[in-house]
Amino acid sequence: MKKIGVLTSGGDAPGMNAAVRAVARTGISKGMEVVGILRGYNGLINGDIKTLDARSVSGIIQNGGTCIYTARCLEFREKAGVLKAKEMCIKNGIEGIVVIGGDGSFRGAADLSAEGIPCIGVPGTIDNDISMTEYTIGYDTAMNTAMELIDKLNDTASSHDRCSVVEVMGRRAGYIALNTGIACGAIAVITTEMPYSIDDIIAKISTARAGGKNHFIIVVSEGIGNSEAIAREIQDKTGIESRATILGHVQRGGRPTLRDRVEASKLGYYAVELLEQGIGNRVVGLKDGHVIDVDIQEALSMKKAFPVEDYKMADILTF
Ligand code: ADP
Repeated sequence: MKKIGVLTSGGDAPGMNAAVRAVARTGISKGMEVVGILRGYNGLINGDIKTLDARSVSGIIQNGGTCIYTARCLEFREKAGVLKAKEMCIKNGIEGIVVIGGDGSFRGAADLSAEGIPCIGVPGTIDNDISMTEYTIGYDTAMNTAMELIDKLNDTASSHDRCSVVEVMGRRAGYIALNTGIACGAIAVITTEMPYSIDDIIAKISTARAGGKNHFIIVVSEGIGNSEAIAREIQDKTGIESRATILGHVQRGGRPTLRDRVEASKLGYYAVELLEQGIGNRVVGLKDGHVIDVDIQEALSMKKAFPVEDYKMADILTF
């Protein structure tokens, strides 16, 4: 391939820039022209495209967000939108595209691959909810951000003998909740993957309080919601002052951690290697620490197991 594109699509994630940089630098080192397609599939439909030279991706590896912007694009969900995008690729000489995003973005990448423009998906989402890979770009940074914020809430909760109910991101996946819960010593972690009972949590809090514990953290994943109601119920039934905090989008920002920068670099590099061989309709990911690639349809149909043992351990370690 002589010319390839890279786009970021769906929700942003820290580390996406490292992947964009890796795609640009790998492509350029192989003698390709690399273009950044701005604002996801919108840029492809509208021809919002800029050439990325080696210097244009300088100084971005350490920045959160994505320098080529990201967006959702309703038009691309229709066949007519995909055909427009294909025409724009042909007009601009773009022979392959690296799509950095989540499941939805990969569906779009599969559609475009089927129209003859090979696309490689790179998992970029803080939620780690892509089944074919152990790790998605942004996950580590988001968890570290959430952990630091929960630590701060823990300081104030312990000073005031309070219970802090903290909602972390993860609409469809409780991995951020589980790991931050372990890392911050939460008395309970509530996620959509596991059944839970507020009464059981209250009983655990009461036992811990009788044992001298004066402050409590409960981590709730976004998919559960209801943090305010959970805090109210705990306060009403235990008499412990309880507050709900929704961490929200602050978890998406910030300087990517070393892990996010390194994994994003590897995944971006490998994606270009596949395009160079004319291979498309694949998603790259990590398995046992190694980069692998899987057919997009197969990747989308895979189910990710929730680490139930870790969940049980989290429960045992706090009392
Ligand atoms: P994510 O990639 O993070 O899962 P979305 O689900 O919002 O985020 O998808 C991002 C974009 O990918 C959408 O705005 C749309 O342009 C494209 N997309 C999503 N689903 C499809 C689909 N079924 N077919 C084609 N394109 C899709």
